[in-house]
Amino acid sequence: MSPPDPARRACVIGWPVAHSRSPLIHGYWLKHYGIEGSYGREAVAPEDLAGFIGRLSSLGYVGCNVTLPHKEAVYGLVEVEDQTTRQIEAVNTVYVEGGRLIGFNSDAYGFVAHLRSVLPDWRGDGVNVLVLGAGGAARAVIAGLLGEGVSRIEIANRTEARGRSLAGHFGEKVSALPWTAIPRHLPVCDLVVNATLLGMAGQPPLEIDLDGLPPGAAVADIVYVPLETDLLRQARVRGHPVVDGLGMLLHQAVPGFEVWFGVRPQVTPQLRAVIEADLAGN
Ligand code: NAP
Repeated sequence: MSPPDPARRACVIGWPVAHSRSPLIHGYWLKHYGIEGSYGREAVAPEDLAGFIGRLSSLGYVGCNVTLPHKEAVYGLVEVEDQTTRQIEAVNTVYVEGGRLIGFNSDAYGFVAHLRSVLPDWRGDGVNVLVLGAGGAARAVIAGLLGEGVSRIEIANRTEARGRSLAGHFGEKVSALPWTAIPRHLPVCDLVVNATLLGMAGQPPLEIDLDGLPPGAAVADIVYVPLETDLLRQARVRGHPVVDGLGMLLHQAVPGFEVWFGVRPQVTPQLRAVIEADLAGN
């Protein structure tokens, strides 16, 4: 008889990492599915990152999540097999397989999976999207939406040159417009996504007036502290379908849990309630 598998261990790495809700999400699933494993936090300084990733397996980990500021650096330290992650050029999930370190980015999946769960009839074809922001999260959102076959994406970013550069990275379906052009662009939008950090607790507000957005157009915010941002409140009051940032956070955790622990977990109202309670306590 072969000995039982040792309990599997995974973690989230970041610098700092104390704020990460990933241990709560994965801890909930480990308990819920009765899996003998663990998921912790590792504060890893940028200068220690390559060494830590290289030793991941010998440290006893089957994999890890990667949070700020390491996502882009880890992309260069692991093998990447999927096209979406190559488009995003950043990794948020790593797993060990046959001695190889493989990385992927599940933020695009998380955004789209949540969008589809909130709007089950949502289809990408014929859809015009306005994405606010051109940072790492915007990159993942755009990759996810292109994978859904949306017709057009306009990027509005404070630093317009960064928006243009990101549009160039993605090709002909994506272009950039100045931040000041947002009001005149809203009437042709089917979906608006805030992928900046504006509106997040402790950050400046996102000052945008949704007047002009057609009825029925959806509004998404990837900021999840607060749970209902001013943008989402304004959209809800105007009657637009709204897609919040917490759902993206929960869904992006699914593929990592599956590769590390062998069960594809469900994002349920119970899990959401646990994380909402934790966010409310801070
Ligand atoms: P990032 O790479 O640093 O990008 C930040 C973006 O915000 C840039 O477009 C930046 O514009 C813009 N910005 C920052 N300060 C601004 C200001 N004062 N006025 C106008 N624009 C401003 O950050 P990120 O990784 O993309 O993260 C962005 C947000 O997404 C964060 O709030 C993060 O928590 C959230 N996020 C959520 C999830 C989720 O699962 N829900 C996943 C990932 C990220 P410039 O280019 O002009 O600097």
